Amino acid sequence: MSITDGRECDKMKKNLQGLTIEELQEFAAELGEATFRGKQLFRWINGKGEKDFDRMTDFSLKLREKLKEKAYVGGVRVSSEQHDEHDGTRKFLFGLEDSNAVEGVFMKYRYGNSLCVSSQVGCRMGCIFCASALDGLVRNLTAGEMADQVYEAERHTGESINHIVVMGMGEPFDNYENLKTFLELLHHPDGKNLGYRNITVSTSGIVPAMKRFAEDFPQVNLAISLHRLEDAGRSRIMPVNRAYPLEELLQTAGWYTERTGRRITFEYTLIRGENDGPEDVALMKEKLSRMLFHVNLIPLNKVEETGLEGSSRKRAEEMAAELNSCGIPATVRRELGGDIDGACGQLRQKKTILE
Ligand code: SAH
Repeated sequence: MSITDGRECDKMKKNLQGLTIEELQEFAAELGEATFRGKQLFRWINGKGEKDFDRMTDFSLKLREKLKEKAYVGGVRVSSEQHDEHDGTRKFLFGLEDSNAVEGVFMKYRYGNSLCVSSQVGCRMGCIFCASALDGLVRNLTAGEMADQVYEAERHTGESINHIVVMGMGEPFDNYENLKTFLELLHHPDGKNLGYRNITVSTSGIVPAMKRFAEDFPQVNLAISLHRLEDAGRSRIMPVNRAYPLEELLQTAGWYTERTGRRITFEYTLIRGENDGPEDVALMKEKLSRMLFHVNLIPLNKVEETGLEGSSRKRAEEMAAELNSCGIPATVRRELGGDIDGACGQLRQKKTILE
């Protein structure tokens, strides 16, 4: 039987992207190779972002051939891109090995480069203002697909990425196991060796996962999408609130800051007429006390299908000033990628537009 179809062939090969050192050592042993080959493979894949066995120059030609026969390094590929000339923000559509795609946003800051990474294709949290939720959840991303968004963005831009925010498509805590492996891969000294403090994970408020996260990754930054401080209203815009209502969420947030000693970021997306009134500011003053936190006000980016409008920049600044005046640290998020729908929460598979 001759195999001519590359795809069929790849299906029979092992995908090494996303494997831990231990798993790569096992794979090396299966090939009849010394276990240290596992570590070498890990360094190539996660430390250098290499996918081509022919460029793994510390392997003999014979071993490279064996690797090509039995394995491949999968992941994602930039299939299209939008560039905001004003601020250098680049939005990528990452094609996956099946026909799906997710988005990532590369941003330049004074302190370095940051990538906003997706954790799922679509999302099942159903927040009414969010583009990623429009078609529900398609599937979880693997740890390898998450990690390769970072490696691919580096290969593609030629720049190094030193901050990661998991604020792209999907709810990371709805894909906890793969998120965990992804964070461990990025942090590994034989990989990118990225400090946990340089990573932020954002959740819509899945309380049990927040508790687990505090134990597993006390140094990774946590952001919580709050958006409203009254249960009925929050449940209407964020259905997750029905499962984990505000009191439980805020109590867990307080426990989190005590347990980890780390400041939480509360994201507060401003929807005109929905959560930007004086009563909303009063609720914030009343409910957000006695913990280490910071409020990030984000005027909603318009998503056509939702019919919702963002608050004005002026209103956002007014709210921030009012909160600051009574000791609540609040800032208005700097708008990056405004020209390209690049802001978080506007990520979706705009394939027909982009391609
Ligand atoms: N599911 C996670 C992470 C992804 S969304 C979470 O909910 O936190 C990242 C942030 O963008 C969240 O705070 C989300 O509520 C916000 N967001 C979603 N849609 C938005 C929009 N259209 N404009 C501004 N922010 C939005």
